[in-house]
Amino acid sequence: MNAREATPRAGAGGWLEVDLGAIAANWRALREKVGPDVRVGAAVKADAYGLGMDRVAPALYAAGCRNFFVAHAGEGLTLAPMIGRDAAIFVLNGCMPGAEDAVADANLLPVLNSLDQIERYRACAQAAGRSLPCAVQVDSGMSRFGLSASEVRALQSDAHAFRGLIPVLVMSHLACADEPAHPANRAQFEAFRALRPMLPEALASLAASSGIFLGPSFHFDLVRPGAALYGINPTPGQPNPMRDVVRLYARLIQARNVDTGTAVGYGAHFIADRPRRIATLAVGYGDGWPRVAGGRAFAVLPEKPDIHLPVIGRVSMDSLALDVTELGDVPLPAGVPFELIGPHVPLETVAEGLQTIGYEVLTSLGSRYHRTYVNG
Ligand SMILES: *Cc1c(COP(=O)(O)O)cnc(C)c1O
Repeated sequence: MNAREATPRAGAGGWLEVDLGAIAANWRALREKVGPDVRVGAAVKADAYGLGMDRVAPALYAAGCRNFFVAHAGEGLTLAPMIGRDAAIFVLNGCMPGAEDAVADANLLPVLNSLDQIERYRACAQAAGRSLPCAVQVDSGMSRFGLSASEVRALQSDAHAFRGLIPVLVMSHLACADEPAHPANRAQFEAFRALRPMLPEALASLAASSGIFLGPSFHFDLVRPGAALYGINPTPGQPNPMRDVVRLYARLIQARNVDTGTAVGYGAHFIADRPRRIATLAVGYGDGWPRVAGGRAFAVLPEKPDIHLPVIGRVSMDSLALDVTELGDVPLPAGVPFELIGPHVPLETVAEGLQTIGYEVLTSLGSRYHRTYVNG
C-alpha cells in the first residue's frame, strides 16, 4: 500500500478524482488523429503528471499503448512491473553515470542525449556482452537535450559510434509547438529532417501533445503525448479537443463571518473591506496551491456552480481561505467539498490565473489528496 492509498477519504483535506476512461479515450482519439501508420506513445513521467503512474500506465497499456516515456531511470524501474513486458520504456534523460547496468538489466531504453551518454552506454553493452536497444536524441533548436548538428556529423564519420547499441528511435523535441504560427516549429522540423538520415535507421519522433496538432508532417513514425492524455489543452487559445480527466475538491474545515477591517491569513495580507463570510479549506501550498494564489484562483460550491468564490490572502501550507460572502447564508457543514478543478473550474482557467500551465498545476498536486480512479 502506498502513501496515497493510506489516506482515508474521510480523513483527507481534499479529494482527487482521475477518470482513467477519459485518459484511455484521449489516447484513442490521438491514435485516430494520427492514423494507422503512426504509433502513439505516452509520457508518464512525474508520476503520470501527478495523477498516479501505477493506475494511469496500466490503463494506457490496456488501451493499446506500447511505448512509454519517463524522465528518470528510477521512474522506468518503477514502471516496468506495472505494464506488459512487450512495452518499450524510454528514459528521456538518458542514463546518469553508474545507472547504466540497472537500465540495461531492466530492458529500459535510454534516450542517449550526448556523446558522453553514448560512450557510457556503449561501454555498458560491451561489458554485458550483448547489444542494447536505445534511442538517440538530436537537438533541433531547443538547446536542452540532444546531440548538436556538428556532433551528429562527427558520429556519421565514425563507423563504430553505435557499436553494441541498437538505436530503435531517433527523436527531437519542439520548443514552441503550442504556438502553431511560431517560426521555430518549421525551423526545428527542417533541422530534424536534415539530421535524421545521418543517424542509424530507426523510427523517428518529433511531436509531443501540441506537435500532433501542427499537422501530419510533424507526426513521423511515433508521437509522444503526455499533457493531452491528461486533459490539458494541446491547442491553447482554441477549444480543448481532449476530454477532461481531473476533478479536485478541497473540503471545508470551518466558516466564519468577519467584520469590516478584519485580517485574514498570514501577513494580514487580506483585510475585509466590508462584513464578509470566510471559509477555510483543508488544502494549501503543501498540496500544490501556491502561496500567492490569493486573488488568482477561485473555487465553486458544486451546488452553486455559477458563483466564483475567490481565494483570498496568503495560502498556508495546509489550508487556504475563500471569500464565500456571495453564497449568502447557504449552510456550510464541515467537510463539504468545494471544486478547485472540474467541470465548473477548468484546469486551463486555473493555470492561467496562477500564471502557469496545466502541467505545473497537475504535477504540483502532491500526495495528500484522497484519490479515486473512475472508469478504469
Ligand atoms: C514531457 C515530454 C513529452 C510529452 O510532452 P507533452 O507536452 O506533455 O505532450 C514528450 N517528449 C519529451 C521529450 C518530453 O520531455
